[in-house]
This record gives sequence, structure tokens and C-alpha cells, in this order.
Amino acid sequence: MPISKSSLFGLFVSALALRAKADDVPYNNYPEKFTGLNVLDGPYGGASFGLQDIPGASYTAPTKRPLGTLPQKCYERTGSDTCSPENMEVYEVNYNDCNEPAIICRCTNAGTSLTTLTERISRIPVKARQLISHWTAFPGDGCGGIYYANGVVGLFGTCTAQSVYFHEVGHAMDQYVAGANTGYFWYSDSPDWRNKIASDSCVPDSYAKAGYIEAYAQSAVMSAYHANVQNIWSLDVGCMAGQMATVNEQLIDKGQQVFKYRAGATCDLPSPSGYVVLH
Ligand SMILES: [Zn+2]
Repeated sequence: MPISKSSLFGLFVSALALRAKADDVPYNNYPEKFTGLNVLDGPYGGASFGLQDIPGASYTAPTKRPLGTLPQKCYERTGSDTCSPENMEVYEVNYNDCNEPAIICRCTNAGTSLTTLTERISRIPVKARQLISHWTAFPGDGCGGIYYANGVVGLFGTCTAQSVYFHEVGHAMDQYVAGANTGYFWYSDSPDWRNKIASDSCVPDSYAKAGYIEAYAQSAVMSAYHANVQNIWSLDVGCMAGQMATVNEQLIDKGQQVFKYRAGATCDLPSPSGYVVLH
């Protein structure tokens, strides 16, 4: 989540730098609705379950790809002191709601286990899950320095909270769902989103103040909670009604309802299959 930590990845950082100019701290004086959205992982506010218990797609054991078939997008994320290409293992996971496998590139010493990755990914509703082309995992302290870039999620350290996974996929929704539908590369870059926050009087939590893009991703986590756990309005989120109503409309009420678990939903996009041969 704290994107600035992923300084190893020049392309990503420069892309974010362009986005973070004068307005990277929206409404720093606003109250924060939650102390952190990890509170939504377990039972909260009277709910009997949380994000961690959203029904996930069933899956078969991950299949390890042979050495030499590292996808280009994973190869680009390897670096000398983070993970060498030779230490990046590639797995394909077949979820029962998709004929195309999800691709996980995991460094051999990554903090997040393959089992945790596979399970947490299974709980992302398929219409959203299919928009992540590669999941990558690296070693690191705690769970930090996470990034999202053009369909690729990078996890550093031991990331077990379901809210973290929804947050990162939330960035993809900002780009590929809300952005695509409104004509912006990122919807959170639009005057519309800024006006929503300006008209509200609070933001989801302190991390939402890291930038408009993060405010969107945190609102998206809350939207996933609203769609799959319990009515978010029962948690007194009226102070951010504009943000909440907007993201709910974009991600769970209209279109493919990408953040809503729906039994029988299936993927409808091809999986990226490109790979490079190690040399
Ligand atoms: Zn983020």
C-alpha cells in the first residue's frame, strides 16, 4: 500500500509521480471513518463474518511452471536485491469459475505463502480477479511497499489480510472499470472524484489521505464489504456518502458488479500467457 516504498521499480514510481503532483494529500484535515480497513477483515459492527470469510472460488493445487517460462511482466519486477529471475517461481492456479489460470509469480523466499496467496485471490470475485494478469510476491518486512501497476499486483512481506488484496485489486477497478467507463485512465484522477471527496466530510482511514488514488482503493474495499458482508451504511458512513455511493455504483450495482460475489459468475477475458526464457 505505501507505494513510495517500492522505489526499486522505476517505471511504476515514475508513473505514480506523475499522478501525485500538487494534490497528493486530499483533505488531510478530514476525520477518518476507520482506524484502518483491516477492521473489516473479521466480524465488525455486528456482522457475523468479514472480508476474510467471503465465499471463494474453489481451486485445484497450483501447478508450477517449468524453469524458463517466467512471464515478461514478472521478469520485469525482479531485481538484484529483491528477487533474482532464477528465484522467481511461476504457478498457474485454476479456479473453478474460470477456464484460464491465474498466474502467481512468487519469489522462493517471499513472506506470503503460496497457500495464502491462492486462498486470498480465490475470494476476489471473478469479474474483478480476471483483471489482474499477474500476482507477484517478494520477501519483505511486515506487509508493505505493495504496488499495483497495469494489472500486476506486487506483495512484499507477509500479506494475509483480505482487505489488502481488495485494496490492490481496487486500483485495477479504478483503472479498468471506473476509469474505462468514464473516459479517464484512472477514475480517481477525475474532477468528479475530487468533487465527491470535497462534498463529503470524512475519508475511509488515514491511508486514504495518501492520495486520491488511495482514497478510491480504500473506498473500494468498503464497497466489497458492503456487497458481500453487510450493509456499509449501517456503519455510519454518511460522512463519506458521496465517495461510497459512487464506488458502490461503479463496482457492485452496475455493469459486471465486479466486487460482488455472485454464484455462477465466470471469467470472460483471456489470460495473458506470454513468457520469457531465462538467459
Ligand atoms: Zn494503494
